[in-house]
Amino acid sequence: MLSHGKEDYIKAIAEALDETEYASLKRIADYMNVSSAAVSDMANKLAKEGLVSITPYKGIQLTESGREYHSKLSDKHRLWEVFLVNYLGYSLREAHEDAHILEHFSPPRLMERLNAFMEMPEYCPHGHDIEVNKGFEEDLVLLTLNELNVGEKAQLVSFKEEGAFLDHIEKKQLKPGLKVNIKEKEAFGGSVVLRIDEQDVSIGMQAAEMIKVKRIKENYEH
Ligand SMILES: [Zn+2]
Ligand SMILES: [Zn+2]
Repeated sequence: MLSHGKEDYIKAIAEALDETEYASLKRIADYMNVSSAAVSDMANKLAKEGLVSITPYKGIQLTESGREYHSKLSDKHRLWEVFLVNYLGYSLREAHEDAHILEHFSPPRLMERLNAFMEMPEYCPHGHDIEVNKGFEEDLVLLTLNELNVGEKAQLVSFKEEGAFLDHIEKKQLKPGLKVNIKEKEAFGGSVVLRIDEQDVSIGMQAAEMIKVKRIKENYEH
């Protein structure tokens, strides 16, 4: 089993690869607040274990088994989040924080029992897939909330897992699955006013960028 440090590197690399084809050493170093030399050491170790591949002058990629490793780690994290929110009354922020600790100390047997106990949830409380339960599904094209125009309808899918932001959306009572109508949008980075049921909820543009949504087309509703 990998030690704590390595697991965090795998996560940081996977996160960078969401946005770019190669994760650069510098980016990982900045993100983890360590030296480039430390990243390079770790990358070499991970490459020896077959979890990453390194391309000179470009950066790091996850191999097939690296991706599988990362997916299992994410599933552990997300299953713990479901447990903490549904059974222990954690807030969205608290659940993410403590799941980040628990995920490193979760043997497969424990996770299998926990998963069965909770009847195999498909999403974490922030709307991200639990792959072991979700199975393969074609990736939906998701937008961020700020990309929608006035008059459009959408369903909230997932929230970026960042402490203060999670507190914010919990206060606004936003949840994955909610259907919203874009009522108003202020120019120049102002705010977005959402119509939810019979209520208006206003959120800042910066927060809107952290919410993934899927557009609902008028004709497909009913
Ligand atoms: Zn989380
Ligand atoms: Zn989550």
